[in-house]
Amino acid sequence: MDDTTLLMIPGPTTVPKRVLDAMSQPIVNHRGAEYGEILGETTAMMSDVFQTDNPSYLLTGSGTSAMEAAIANIVEKGDKVINVVGGKFGQRLQQLTEVYGGESIEITVPWGHAVDPAEVKRVVEENDDAKALTLVHNESSTAVVNPIKEVGEIMKDYDTLFVVDTVSSLAGDNVKVQDYGLDICLTGSQKCIAAPPGMAAITVNDDAWNVIEKTNSPRYYLDLLKMKKSGEKQPAQTPYTPNVSMTYAMKEALTMVLEEGLDARIKRHHVGAEATRAAAQALGLELFANEGDYSNTLTAIKMPEGVTDDQLRGTMRNKYNIELAGGQDHLKGNVFRIGHMGLTGLFELSATFTCLEMTLKEFGFEFETGAGVAALEEVYLKN
Ligand code: PLP
Repeated sequence: MDDTTLLMIPGPTTVPKRVLDAMSQPIVNHRGAEYGEILGETTAMMSDVFQTDNPSYLLTGSGTSAMEAAIANIVEKGDKVINVVGGKFGQRLQQLTEVYGGESIEITVPWGHAVDPAEVKRVVEENDDAKALTLVHNESSTAVVNPIKEVGEIMKDYDTLFVVDTVSSLAGDNVKVQDYGLDICLTGSQKCIAAPPGMAAITVNDDAWNVIEKTNSPRYYLDLLKMKKSGEKQPAQTPYTPNVSMTYAMKEALTMVLEEGLDARIKRHHVGAEATRAAAQALGLELFANEGDYSNTLTAIKMPEGVTDDQLRGTMRNKYNIELAGGQDHLKGNVFRIGHMGLTGLFELSATFTCLEMTLKEFGFEFETGAGVAALEEVYLKN
């Protein structure tokens, strides 16, 4: 990969120069006042983006570290946890539940579909002793968005904690942690926030702290109580040495998110998603996700007959320097995915669809030249 490669994968996304430049600042003492101030400002912005008054914590680790922190701090041996599983990341939360000794009650959702809130209500009602319900907001393996607002409304009637993974949606789709009643919400740096990979964030409300304080589970590096204690120090700290450069990056990236404005940024992601779907369909391609359940931040497209994953994504990569993502697990070879998150917009999508058209033509597909780009243009013109 060279630095002209266009990353059209669902994270990591292209990182703006402002953020890269911020990372080149000198390293300071992570226990000193200067870092404390930067950390405090960054976590305050993180809470603004989560749309909660509760504090947020930065973790040195990828999104999965925050998934593990969420589970490790609330699940002890024998605890019942309801896991919504409709893709790879739903599955990961279930696996974590089991690793920490929890008994998983699975709500199985066919890949490509969103969970039905009525089904959640039925299962929570039947298992009102469950400690938590886990849900992935934006299931990146299937390009599906789950109805966290509607499920949050249901969960307000139960003591069961609502744990939501917004790794591939925060800052690109609506996530109102406090309004929706998300008890624990977590995210990653490298997706819609457009910072490099390697940092995660988590926010926890009072109901969740009550559970965490009483949970006797094996945890050390990911102990949220230690993060809370260090975060409350003056100057603010992290329990162990943080990734100082990544903190600078997150500070700059979150500043950019808030400068653009959350609503404007989410709208921009909506337009990119709509344009991507329109362009794909104009080329005769079929979307993988169920209509109405489409993700705002990435699109999964069925691999058309007559071309292999290696041929399609290989040509895009080797001839045009554009990286697309493949399918995961049983979708490997059957779908390819286009990320339209972070700062990705018309410029990147135009290049992607121009080259995708040329790739498909090379493998014998027929459509009017420029049909995909024309469809993109139409969506952008009306928005
Ligand atoms: N959750 C979702 C929805 C994701 O898309 C990802 C990564 O793609 C993760 C969790 C895991 O994040 P990471 O790969 O940063 O550990």
